[in-house]
Amino acid sequence: MKAIRRFTVRPVLPEPLRPLSDLARNLRWSWHTETRDLFRAVDPAAGSAECDPVRLLGAVSAGRLAELAGDEQFLRRLAEASADLRTYLDGPRWYQDQLAGGAELPAAVAYFSPEFGVTAALPQYSGGLGILAGDHLKAASDLGVPLVAVGLLYRHGYFRQSLSRDGWQQEHYPVLDPNELPLGLLREADGSPSRVVLALPGGRSLHAHIWHARVGRVPLLMLDSAVEENAPGEREVTDRLYGGGSEHRLLQEMLLGIGGVRAVRTYCRLTGHPAPEVFHTNEGHAGFLGLERIRELGGTGLDFDAAVEAVRAGTVFTTHTPVPAGIDRFDRELVARHLGDDGELPGVDVEHILRLGDETYPGGEPELFNMAVMGLRLAQRANGVSTLHGQVGREMFAGLWPGFDAAEVPITSVTNGVHAPTWVAPEILRMHGPCDGAPGRTAPADSIPDRELWDLRRTLRARLVTEVRERLHASWRDRGAQAAELGWIDGVLDPDVLTIGFARRVPSYKRLTLMLRDRDRLGKLLLHPTRPVQIVVAGKAHPADDGGKRLVRELVRFSDDARVRHRIVFLPDYGMAMAQNLYPGCDVWLNNPLRPLEACGTSGMKAALNGCLNLSVLDGWWDEWYEPDFGWAIPTADGLAVDEDRRDDLEAGALYELIEDRIAPRFYDRDGEGLPGRWIEMVRRTLRDLGPKVLAERMVAEYVERLYAPAARAHRATDRGAARRLAGWKARVRSAWPGVAVDHVEASAADGAGGSAELGATLVLRVRIALGALEPDDVEVQAVAGRVDAADGISDAQVFPLKPAGGQDLEGRWLYEGPLTLDRTGPYGYTVRVLPTHPLLATGAELGLVALPAESAGDGAGVFLR
Ligand SMILES: *Cc1c(COP(=O)(O)O)cnc(C)c1O
Repeated sequence: MKAIRRFTVRPVLPEPLRPLSDLARNLRWSWHTETRDLFRAVDPAAGSAECDPVRLLGAVSAGRLAELAGDEQFLRRLAEASADLRTYLDGPRWYQDQLAGGAELPAAVAYFSPEFGVTAALPQYSGGLGILAGDHLKAASDLGVPLVAVGLLYRHGYFRQSLSRDGWQQEHYPVLDPNELPLGLLREADGSPSRVVLALPGGRSLHAHIWHARVGRVPLLMLDSAVEENAPGEREVTDRLYGGGSEHRLLQEMLLGIGGVRAVRTYCRLTGHPAPEVFHTNEGHAGFLGLERIRELGGTGLDFDAAVEAVRAGTVFTTHTPVPAGIDRFDRELVARHLGDDGELPGVDVEHILRLGDETYPGGEPELFNMAVMGLRLAQRANGVSTLHGQVGREMFAGLWPGFDAAEVPITSVTNGVHAPTWVAPEILRMHGPCDGAPGRTAPADSIPDRELWDLRRTLRARLVTEVRERLHASWRDRGAQAAELGWIDGVLDPDVLTIGFARRVPSYKRLTLMLRDRDRLGKLLLHPTRPVQIVVAGKAHPADDGGKRLVRELVRFSDDARVRHRIVFLPDYGMAMAQNLYPGCDVWLNNPLRPLEACGTSGMKAALNGCLNLSVLDGWWDEWYEPDFGWAIPTADGLAVDEDRRDDLEAGALYELIEDRIAPRFYDRDGEGLPGRWIEMVRRTLRDLGPKVLAERMVAEYVERLYAPAARAHRATDRGAARRLAGWKARVRSAWPGVAVDHVEASAADGAGGSAELGATLVLRVRIALGALEPDDVEVQAVAGRVDAADGISDAQVFPLKPAGGQDLEGRWLYEGPLTLDRTGPYGYTVRVLPTHPLLATGAELGLVALPAESAGDGAGVFLR
């Protein structure tokens, strides 16, 4: 029989156990081992698998609760855990110390993301972006950063993966009842649920309720459209993560961006939380938050351009991928229909909105509205997520700042980090000592004897072996096998064999099957008589990606082969719970993306924090922090003129060679006591020297210092009057810019008349500049100098500001001059340029306007010294 209605009966906890409820409802338990152990003790029969306190309290019997209410020892532990949580939530932390030290920091930051991976018990993530967002919240909580996070509550989350008999990915969508999740409903003073409403075309409306999770100190607000006020179609808007067609995605993103700002306003009104001064948007998906804030300001009489200035000042945009599929582009017509007069944001001119998403660069498509482009236009500060990705992002978006070299495109980078207490095995965490909530603490791995460290590694490997067998067994039962056929699974993996892990989503650039390039060679590695290797693989392909599913099937079929199945396994349903045991249990973490498409990659960081060595293409974070003591770099063929097939062959060959010649021999090179001394030394160096760099605390502290603090200062400086003046100034500069020119450049005696000059010599440049309708205060005139290539391109440029030197000449041109020191030998050159300048600009490139000498100027401009 099927129930016609369902609801959740909440447990009534006996008085002495009441604090369990608070402990369950703050997700801090997800990174606090003692609290998790306490919940395990509530119902030891529930097993040690995924911990989910809210579900557990809902399922435990009244008899067991009564028993615990009289258990002195349990109550003592409960009191300790509660006191610990209170101390964690109340004490001043790093952020408060910075404020006390006089730092100008935002009163609050709103952090928007389409997905959040906080714990397996709140499955609202698909992969790296969501997990990173979860780690960002936890580290912000640890550091005391006043963040309010905003996302959507997907009633079906992301899919769960299983396999068909022949290895084809099967997708299942769980039905999530928010009442059974660690969430509370945001309510008005009268007890009714708080609501967000968006107007849709055709007189429809989209309603949402606001759920909130507590991530330590950080509230996470999640908008939910599955409410009765909605028509059936609108109820489905928050059905699943990254599903549905274009219009569905647009509605999700409108709810996230526009509805999200309204949810934050509601939360602040109800709780007294300070209003955010900085809005941080992750990838373009939440970009509509800027439009909602423009609409808010319109109500106060600010016109569109001035409102854009006020909004941009306090906005930070992070781009997370150079892969085009990761960037949302909508039909302009679809956007116009939803954001036009008939839809949401009345009073904001839709033509203005559409211009924000225009791909105004060569190759851009005129019918499309690009969310990343809008994100960059509506954020004064932007960043990529590793040094290499910053560079790639600057090149990718350089078309938005014409006239500037990629190096000057205003996109910086903050390299991602991971939250150690979430990802590090408790045994290793204990070795690190207590967390003190300050960024960059180091690991005392030095004091642990070799034997102890190696034994610990083996313990973790053995735990993984047990878990792999359990998961493999369950997977085979799912695939239709009888228990009696599965005896072989007891012999799968060996706790003493070199273990390589590879787990991630399965977009083609991550090359799940690169390791299968030469199957015989892989087979020999796995079955080596004295130095065998075993490999654990996992990953989900996007449900619409049949190519990805074929890769999964290829890998599954290889690992089903009776000759190798004890040495290579594919585990279905990669997720946080699996990942948490996988990283600590592996010796080597493999990553072989097509360089440079991995923006950062974070799984290797989590592995490193557990003393696992990395074996990776020099992409993302590994390009930045690779050292021979932390692992191995797989040589790549990017930049060579080879086709993809050949490239895969070359890179796979390099991968096999590293494992055969370097990695396996080192792992199995044992001393008289059976210890691999050199390997252990690498583990130690990884824990001690790499560990502190890859922490999310380091990342969040960098966001605070390099992006949030300047954005908060800019926000404060850009009040209504300043926003109006800035918008007016930009309009004036834009229209007058065609009249700006570098007319004449001359250099003093040391000029390379003969084409050469001496190191250390100083040139005095004198230049004449036409400013048209602008004044000297509106511009900065600079000499830009550096090494030149054969085509006279300047690299490693240095900038020398030139100063006004006595008024205008008879033709109305302004004279500027200044010294230029020749501090490099070899081919050297300079040029002169004019940029707009204003105290509220973050960089000279911000407007994308620059005036350079005409190419043909034969009067010394661009004279190159050899
Ligand atoms: C860390 C993590 C990811 C991201 O891994 P990448 O190396 O960045 O691809 C994806 N899924 C899960 C479950 C993770 O824990």
